[in-house]
Amino acid sequence: MSIPKPSEILQRLIRFNTTNPPGHERACIEYLERLLVQADLTPRIVAQDPERPNLLVRVPGEGVEPGLMLFGHVDVVTTAGQAWSVPPFDGLIRDGMLWGRGALDMKAGIAMMISAVLALHASGHRPAGDVLFLAVSDEEAGGAMGARYMVESHAELFAGAKYALGEFGGFPLFVDGRPLYMIQLGEKQPCWIEATIRGPGGHGARPMRDGNPGEILVRLERPPIAHSHYPDHGAHGDVHGQCIGMAETHALQAAAPPEPDGCDPLSTWRDRTASRTPLSEHD
Ligand SMILES: [Zn+2]
Repeated sequence: MSIPKPSEILQRLIRFNTTNPPGHERACIEYLERLLVQADLTPRIVAQDPERPNLLVRVPGEGVEPGLMLFGHVDVVTTAGQAWSVPPFDGLIRDGMLWGRGALDMKAGIAMMISAVLALHASGHRPAGDVLFLAVSDEEAGGAMGARYMVESHAELFAGAKYALGEFGGFPLFVDGRPLYMIQLGEKQPCWIEATIRGPGGHGARPMRDGNPGEILVRLERPPIAHSHYPDHGAHGDVHGQCIGMAETHALQAAAPPEPDGCDPLSTWRDRTASRTPLSEHD
């Protein structure tokens, strides 16, 4: 069987509307399952809710090194109320670019990962350690049916996997013109705040200049919101955590405010980047 090109897989993935909520990821996961089964691999489907399954497959290695897991999610965030210049679930290629909801976050990642697994298996090469591929549902709305369920109910499936490549990593962020490859040791925690922010859209966790909530998050750090509305240290700390988690962005660097109470969530990052110049000064 010939392996579809990653771009073809991505087009197919985008055409499954996996907007979460509600998700409805089953058809998308089953497509991945078919690709793997046709290649004589043996994927495993594990689900708390049959309509919201997760898929795991393992390509055996020599067993002399720990396993490497490639993992990602197949659900996407909503397109409701957004102005799209292309249909978001058609997977169109226009001007040499593939467009659609999830093209970046993160069906392209899923397409690349499963392509790598299929190519590895087709090559007949046995890597030093097992290679695992995990595709989960329900990442965009908490992960209860996806990552959390897998870890809490099926941790044994990850046996031997010491390393993992997920949504971030493998591509650089640019700070002061230099590529920054991040290694993630923990995950930021949410602090839910209801707000209406008007302006161009962008990725909620990877801000762009002039086009997303990065600067808004900085403003949340400023009094009175963070300090008077969230006096509890835990909630306050979560807001800080969000901002620190996004600290690679220039918006934060340029707009980092002095904190009146001596609590400066960005000080650590400022210290680390003291030799760097805010991008705004380059423009
Ligand atoms: Zn994502």
